Amino acid sequence: MKKIYLPSIIILSLLIAQPELEKQILCGNSKSLLRILESSSTLTVEQQKYDALFYRINLDIDPDNHLITGTTLARICILDSTISFIELDFASGMVVTELLLNDTSIAVHYSNNMILIPAANGIQIGDTLEIIISYNGNPASTGFGSFIFGSHDNQDLIWSLSEPYGARSWWPCKDDPSDKADSVDIIVRVPSNLKVASNGNLVDTLVLGDKTTYYWEERYPITTYLVSVAIYPYYVWHDQYISVNNDTLPLDYYVFPDHYNSLQENYLLTKDMISVFAGLFGEYPFMDEKYGHAEFGWGGGMEHQTITSLGGWSEALIAHELAHQWWGDMITCNSFHHIWLNEGFATYAEALWWEDKYGPDGLHTDMAYNEYFGGGTIYVENPVSTSDIFNGGLSYRKASWVLHMLRHVVGDDTFFTILRTYGDDPRYKHNSATTEQFQAVCESVSGLNLEVFFQQWIYGSYYPRYSYGWQQNGDTLIVNVGQYQTTGTYFQMPIDLKLICNDTTYIEVVNNTQINEEFSIILEPGRRVMSLVFDPDDWILKSVYFTNNGIDYHGPDKFILQSAYPNPFNAEVTIPFIMQVRGNIEFNIYNLRGELVYSKQGQFDPGKQTLKWNGQDYQGNILSTGVFFIQMNYPGGSKTEKILLLK
Ligand SMILES: [Zn+2]
Repeated sequence: MKKIYLPSIIILSLLIAQPELEKQILCGNSKSLLRILESSSTLTVEQQKYDALFYRINLDIDPDNHLITGTTLARICILDSTISFIELDFASGMVVTELLLNDTSIAVHYSNNMILIPAANGIQIGDTLEIIISYNGNPASTGFGSFIFGSHDNQDLIWSLSEPYGARSWWPCKDDPSDKADSVDIIVRVPSNLKVASNGNLVDTLVLGDKTTYYWEERYPITTYLVSVAIYPYYVWHDQYISVNNDTLPLDYYVFPDHYNSLQENYLLTKDMISVFAGLFGEYPFMDEKYGHAEFGWGGGMEHQTITSLGGWSEALIAHELAHQWWGDMITCNSFHHIWLNEGFATYAEALWWEDKYGPDGLHTDMAYNEYFGGGTIYVENPVSTSDIFNGGLSYRKASWVLHMLRHVVGDDTFFTILRTYGDDPRYKHNSATTEQFQAVCESVSGLNLEVFFQQWIYGSYYPRYSYGWQQNGDTLIVNVGQYQTTGTYFQMPIDLKLICNDTTYIEVVNNTQINEEFSIILEPGRRVMSLVFDPDDWILKSVYFTNNGIDYHGPDKFILQSAYPNPFNAEVTIPFIMQVRGNIEFNIYNLRGELVYSKQGQFDPGKQTLKWNGQDYQGNILSTGVFFIQMNYPGGSKTEKILLLK
C-alpha cells in the first residue's frame, strides 16, 4: 500500500524523479476504524482452532442505492477439537439474513463485528465444514470505510480497499493475514454498463437482462485484505510479460478512459519492471494468472493480488505495488506487527528499480530520500492502529534502509540469494512470515549471526550518530570511532572507511562493536593517508561528525539535495536541501559550457532549507533558455542537479 500526498512533478534531473512523499493516513474514517479495531485486531482463541480453506464471495451490487446483497461460502477445517464456536469477522451494521452450516439453517449469533457459529459436539480435528452466510447492507455504513460507492467523471466507481482489517466490512471471513485461503471465487453482478476487475482469472461473464455477472477465480493462496473488487465502465487494454522460460503472462489494465493518454507510457514500463524484479526476487509469483492495474478512487496504490488498485501512475508507485506481489502477496506479514516485511521491501524495490535504470546513483539517490531520523520501532507495537502500521517513516523508509544495510553487511550476491531463498521457501511462499523467520533465512544463507542487527534496527529505535577522527603514526593509521546518540542504545555495524592515499585509494572495513573504539590499520610501507571518508557510499543510516582533536572543523558531511522546482522554470526556481547540522554551503550555477554564471554562499542551520535563483547572472542579466547545472558544495562533498530555464 502506498499513499500519495503530492502529485508527481516532472523534473529534468540527471538521475531520477523523486518518488512522491508518502505519509501516514489518518482521516476521519481511520480514526473511527481505530475505535472499532480495539477489540478485533488479532485472532481470537477460537479462531486459532480452525483453518480457512476456501471462500466463494457472491455479490450483487446496486450502485444507485449503495447496497450490496451478498452470499459468502466459507469452507474451513478444524484444527482443535475443543473449538466451541467458529468465529467469523463481519462488521456490525450489515444485515445477516440466513446462516447455513453444512446446508442446515441455524440461528444467527452476530454482534461486536463477529458471527459466532456453534461447533457441533464431537467435532474432530480434520473435519471440514461449509458455512454459507447471506447478507446485505452498505459496508461503508459500518465505519470501516473499506468498500466505497464513489464516482469518476460522473460515472459509478465502486472499489474496495481492505488493508488492514476491512475485508470484514463486505464479506464474512477469518480476517487475519496469518491464515490464507487456498483459493477464492469472487462473483460479482453489476449493471451491464460497468466492468468488474478482481483477483486471479476471469473465467466467465454472464449477461442476464441489464445485468452482467463476472466470475473471477483466484487459485493461489490469498489473504483476506488482498481480495478486491474495482468496478467502473473501464477501458480495458492488454500487454504481456514474457518470462525467461518463455511463458506468457497477460497484463490487463482497467483504466478510466480519460486517463488513458496520461498513464499509458508508465503502464508500459510494467513488463520491464516484472523482468527486473523476477531477476532479483525469482519469477513472478502468479504466472498461471495475470498481473494488472485497476484505477480506483484512493490517492495511492494497493497491491491487490494479481490486480493492483492505483490512484496514480508514477513509475515509483507502479514499481512499489508490483514488488508487493512478491513481498506482501506471495509472502504476507504474519501479523501487522511485521508490516515492514511488506512495506520496507516494496519501498526498497523502488530503489532497486532506479538502480537497474540509473545504476548506483539511482539507488543511492532514492535511499537518500528514504532516510528517516525519527524515533519509534519498525516493529509495530500496536497493530490495531492504522497510523502505526502505515507509518511512512518507520514501516516504509527506515525499513527500506534496513534491507539496504543488510545488503551491505552480507554482500550483494548473498543479499539477493537471501531474497530468492526466502521467496522460494515452502514454509513462507504463498503463506506468511514473521521478522524472526526472515532473520533465520538471512542467517542460514549468509552464515552470519544477525541477532544484533535485527534487534537494533527492527526492535530498537533511532540510528547511530558517529564521530570519528584519524591520525597516521608511521605505517599505522589510527582511527577512532565514537557514538554519541543520547537515545536508544549504541549500534554495532561494519563501517566502510575510504582511505585516499598518496599512491592509491581503497576501502577498509572496520567492525564497530563498542561505543568508543580505536582501530589500528597497518599501511603499506611509505604510504601516506591524505584523507579518510567515513562510509563513503552511504550504506548506513546515520549522521557523522569528524572530530580530530575534539574540534569539529569538518562540519556536516550529511547533506541531501532535493529536486528543484518548478523544473523547467521561467521566473524563479527553488532548490530545497536538508542540512543535518549547521554548516557552510556554496551554491554555484554553471551553464552547459561549464561557465560559472552565478554563485552565492552562506551558513545554514540544520533542517530543511531552500535557495532560490531567478535565472539572472551576477550583473542581473536575464539568461536565455537553456540547461544549467546547480552545484551545491558542502563540507565534505558536492552535489549537482540539472535544471532547465525556459524563456
Ligand atoms: Zn506498499
